[in-house]
Amino acid sequence: MKKIPFVTKEKIEEITKTYPTPFHIYDEKGIRENARAVKEAFSWNKGFKEYFAVKATPNPFLINILHEYGCGCDCSSMTELMLSDAVGMKGSDIMFSSNDTPAEDYAYAAKLGAIINLDDITHIDFLENILGKLPETMSCRYNPGGIFQMSNGIMDNPGDSKYGFTTEQLFEGFGILKEKGVKNFGIHAFLASNTVTNEYYPQLAGQLFELAVKLKEETGVKVSFINLSGGVGIPYTPEQEPNDIRVIGDGVREVYEEILVPAGMGDVAIYTEMGRFMMGPYGALVTQAIHEKHTYKEYIGVDACAVNLMRPAMYGAYHHITVLGKEEAPCGHKYDVTGSLCENNDKFAIDRMLPEIEKGDYLVIHDTGAHGHAMGYNYNGKLRSAELLLKEDGSVQLIRRAETPKDYFSTLDCFEVFEKLSD
Ligand SMILES: *Cc1c(COP(=O)(O)O)cnc(C)c1O
Repeated sequence: MKKIPFVTKEKIEEITKTYPTPFHIYDEKGIRENARAVKEAFSWNKGFKEYFAVKATPNPFLINILHEYGCGCDCSSMTELMLSDAVGMKGSDIMFSSNDTPAEDYAYAAKLGAIINLDDITHIDFLENILGKLPETMSCRYNPGGIFQMSNGIMDNPGDSKYGFTTEQLFEGFGILKEKGVKNFGIHAFLASNTVTNEYYPQLAGQLFELAVKLKEETGVKVSFINLSGGVGIPYTPEQEPNDIRVIGDGVREVYEEILVPAGMGDVAIYTEMGRFMMGPYGALVTQAIHEKHTYKEYIGVDACAVNLMRPAMYGAYHHITVLGKEEAPCGHKYDVTGSLCENNDKFAIDRMLPEIEKGDYLVIHDTGAHGHAMGYNYNGKLRSAELLLKEDGSVQLIRRAETPKDYFSTLDCFEVFEKLSD
């Protein structure tokens, strides 16, 4: 499918009069339409709730939009919990799915009344020692080990991942939790990442539903919710077919009716913790070409760099690029599109066929709405960019300002040199 940016050259020229590049911009209309579709796709399940994975895009304005569609927050750290609390998420609106968790984070999650999803059997004692008494509602993260494979060849490797309880530990853990007075139970699993297939959730759900039935039979514990976590992917390349959340919702319903309903578990709530699927396609990094360089290869230097979007440098991830105003021009030039870090992996694209790029052209780097700005860092003294929201009425709202040198130096405030730097 041809990838078309949600902003035009004219719009960006207007926006850059106020907000210089680079910046991430989010599409309110797209976010709302998708959030509505997710809600509808699972409306057959009475207790359904999407807990937006805050780490993907920890911006209160965006979280507030999702909140309107009934979404809660999935957090994994103290500051994510603080942010969720600050936007008015209450108690069970927050899922705390952390790992290697510091004691103070657990204490804070419990104070907020968040649902705590344990990553390991040893955390039962760890948490009890912190709180004195376990909360009435607890969830455990499951890792079946081995390889997770789907019919289209997509697979992931849970056996190699640090997360979750083994099967034996899960049965044992549920028994212990029950003994310690826990009343409401949940299971959680995240077995494959960025799955661009409608098959992932139904297959995972089938596996977890069977597990839930077995847990009930063997431990007497009846789970009240099953959390399918994240992992629903988006088409980063034009060749990929996007997931259809309606088909995914129907697929989960089918296995629900096949496995849970006959077992007398037709009241189990389905939870999800999608990040990428909720926000990824509805964000873009806008950057301007500031240099061209002809050496052994053809380079276009832009004013953004890997600190603004780490995925290409970190994972070799593909992000589609559109040169604004040249949407229909032939892609007759092969470029490396680079940022300015003193690191050779600071490239948004390698050997990418694009229209001829001139200095001053604006480039839209697609699908940066999740794990984009959020993964930003300050290497080379580079500053994080602003985040903008393109509202449904066409206006633009600044939802996070760009960092300034003062922000960068702020942690030196205990030293004399700070006086000079903060002038
Ligand atoms: C990262 C993460 C998510 C979100 O994953 P996506 O692939 O962005 O949907 C959900 N739950 C947990 C526990 C995570 O670590």
